[in-house]
Amino acid sequence: MQSWKSPALPGRQDTAPGELRLYDTAVQAVVPVGPSPGENRPATMYVCGITPYDATHLGHAFTYLTFDLVNRVWRDLGVDVRYSQNVTDIDDPLLERAGLTGVDWRDLAANQIALFASDMEALRVLAPDSFLTVTESLPLIEDAMSVLHSTHQIYQIGDDTADWYFSFDGRPGFGRESHLDGDQMRASFADHGGDPDRPGKRHPLDALVWRQARDNEPWWESVLGPGRPGWHLECAAIACSTLGTGIDLQGGGSDLIFPHHEMCAIQGQAFTGLPFARAFVHSSMVWLDGEKMSKSKGNLVTVSDLLGQRADPMAIRLALLGHHYRADWQWHPEFLAQATRRLDLWREAVHAVTSVDAGPAIAAVRDLLRDDLRADRALEVIDAWAVASLAAEEDHPGARQQMADLADGLLGVGIA
Ligand code: ZN
Repeated sequence: MQSWKSPALPGRQDTAPGELRLYDTAVQAVVPVGPSPGENRPATMYVCGITPYDATHLGHAFTYLTFDLVNRVWRDLGVDVRYSQNVTDIDDPLLERAGLTGVDWRDLAANQIALFASDMEALRVLAPDSFLTVTESLPLIEDAMSVLHSTHQIYQIGDDTADWYFSFDGRPGFGRESHLDGDQMRASFADHGGDPDRPGKRHPLDALVWRQARDNEPWWESVLGPGRPGWHLECAAIACSTLGTGIDLQGGGSDLIFPHHEMCAIQGQAFTGLPFARAFVHSSMVWLDGEKMSKSKGNLVTVSDLLGQRADPMAIRLALLGHHYRADWQWHPEFLAQATRRLDLWREAVHAVTSVDAGPAIAAVRDLLRDDLRADRALEVIDAWAVASLAAEEDHPGARQQMADLADGLLGVGIA
């Protein structure tokens, strides 16, 4: 699938060597993520993509901006980045929405993917190198299923027209990411579309890998019979085939920690024989009116709503970047008003005739982003530079262009 058009990055400035440190959910600590200084290899990142049945809400946008910052910090460090993202264009919620609205599921998916791509482009998110839908990834998902089948790691719950499940019981390391005990896993699995009580399963936490064809549902031929793939195997197969094993980072919203990311990691390891990812990084949830913003609850503010109200996309970006990626927060329209004032201040400063040295502020912004993506505090550093520059009596040569390039390249905020 064609992804969106990436914004051009300004030329990379010489920077002090360093490394990116992020909170790894599995380790439960802030640790270096990606290549070490002097290690000459690309960074690899897989971020779980959308199920395209509704517009991009601010919770989604916050997740993709979080990992856009990761991408930009690595590039600023001089690291090549290989970034892969999937699109779950065949799944129960998509089929349900298509059925309710009388729209062909393929048309619904295509329209929502196009809307998502235009939202990402407006927010100046760097496009992934690989942007695969499930329906175009079926051969590589089938390859993964074939390995699991021939090594007896999946089973059918009934006769030869029944669904196939991944048998995880007894695998060392399961739970390493989520740190949940058995009862918590079972409850979370049920809350997130799992089926712990389905008769015929060997273990309540065995997850669906291939749903056999049903009447009135799309299906594809496979080594396991006609049907469609389960969600966890889909992501594991796409991640491993586009980036290899032992990727630097699997990312997504914190609601994906369990079961999705834990199941991806165990299934990826099962068909490759190697660890799936080195680190698991999660962005917080955005709330609205006291509840997590979600498609299923319908309490949404979408990027396209705000753009339709003529919000500057860079102000939307700043309104989201003003919150640290690890703390849940509640959306309020005042955040957009504050961000618009901030954007006006920055633009006024880079177009003014006076400025102060940008060097110390630029170094501070880099340090804050490298140390667990403290974008919220980095924005305040640029505010202070802008205020000081507007009050200065002279112009510091090059400072305004340097700051515009920093905001553009590292924060993705175009202010020139
Ligand atoms: Zn995923």
